Amino acid sequence: MVDQTKIEEAVRMLLEGIGEDVAREGLRETPDRIARMYGEIFAGMDEDAGEHLSKTFAVASNEIVVVKDITFYSICEHHLMPFYGKAHIAYLPDGKVVGLSKLARTVEVYARRPQIQEQMTIQIVEAIMEHLKPQGAMVMLEAEHLCMTMRGVEKPGSRTVTMASRGCFQEETKWQELFFQMIGNQKVLNQDLVN
Ligand code: ZN
Repeated sequence: MVDQTKIEEAVRMLLEGIGEDVAREGLRETPDRIARMYGEIFAGMDEDAGEHLSKTFAVASNEIVVVKDITFYSICEHHLMPFYGKAHIAYLPDGKVVGLSKLARTVEVYARRPQIQEQMTIQIVEAIMEHLKPQGAMVMLEAEHLCMTMRGVEKPGSRTVTMASRGCFQEETKWQELFFQMIGNQKVLNQDLVN
């Protein structure tokens, strides 16, 4: 749970720091509003991906599962600015699968906390490996970072693409190729590993 009082105090100081009058009408409710909003956008701090990934179903044959275009919103831990985009997830089961919505929930768990995209990619793939124990898994995230596009280098529309693979996706290129094929491999051409 977030400490609302602390956040409200911090927001007031931040506003004073930039020279604002925290008592003016438009800003009076802002600290309270932000404190409540942070409870929501950082809700992943109190969540465990294992809760979502532990409800599995047995399958008779192990066919690749791909869920693509999972929209996510996260906050960059270096600037506390949003980064947002799509997650694509694949795994090759080893006798069991999870409900498809649970993969989206797993993305949420890691998106709703101060993050960096590279780390979030790895956390998702490792959570799937740990809790679902598939033969392999692969995760790709593509996102626009407001800390990059509205300040600093200012490259509107540029996207950062990160990938992580484990098990058969790491060991055998045919599984990676199938993953790229299934999500539409033009995305890889835009790969941009700017940190
Ligand atoms: Zn940033």
